[in-house]
Amino acid sequence: MSLKNKGIIIILSSPSGAGKTTLVKLLSEEKKYKISISHTTRKPRYNENNGIDYFFVDKKKFKEMIDNDEFLEYAEVFDNYYGTTKKNVFINLDKGINMVFDIDWQGTEKIVSKKLNYKLISFFILPPSRDELQKRLSNRDMKDKLIVEERMKQFDKDILHWRDYDYVVINDNLQNCYKNITSLIDTEVNNEENDYDKDEIEKHINSLI
Ligand code: 5GP
Repeated sequence: MSLKNKGIIIILSSPSGAGKTTLVKLLSEEKKYKISISHTTRKPRYNENNGIDYFFVDKKKFKEMIDNDEFLEYAEVFDNYYGTTKKNVFINLDKGINMVFDIDWQGTEKIVSKKLNYKLISFFILPPSRDELQKRLSNRDMKDKLIVEERMKQFDKDILHWRDYDYVVINDNLQNCYKNITSLIDTEVNNEENDYDKDEIEKHINSLI
């Protein structure tokens, strides 16, 4: 089967709090991309549902799944395991269904290194500023100051992986950011030029570090 008839892999990664989950939902609702639902050992947040946001499993079950080679990739993030199962991913892609993955840089690295026979476009989403990120993290269900501090420290490490992505996009306004992502996908799919400015991005990264 030629690449043309297969679905595309779209990866969205970001340091925690950059608004990526909402962008993934928009791609699913408006573009009908299928969301890859990960397994995690983390406890559900108050607004999350099993089988919709994640498949919530305990560490024992997760380890069994690793042993059974069920994961396309998995990683440890904030002391919990997160993983993408192979099941469904390839079935959907082979049917021509585009899939969107909300995974971290470790998972992205693993999937990219597999050199799968599907078109893959990866995006790294960044907040407009450190202050804005701190605000977003504090407004979440995690009121704990220590957690916010820990995630800010993690941000400093995560941001260093920006070069591993095809595109870095700044989420200062959700609709603009969404439009930016979809137009970059369109140009990639149609093999067209785009006005992505890597130097501007590098300036922004330097302002965040
Ligand atoms: P959260 O706990 O905030 O939902 O997610 C924490 C981090 O784990 C996010 O960066 C998210 O993208 C990442 N993540 C979620 N699912 C997966 C997965 O299946 N694999 C990997 N590698 N990372 C994941």
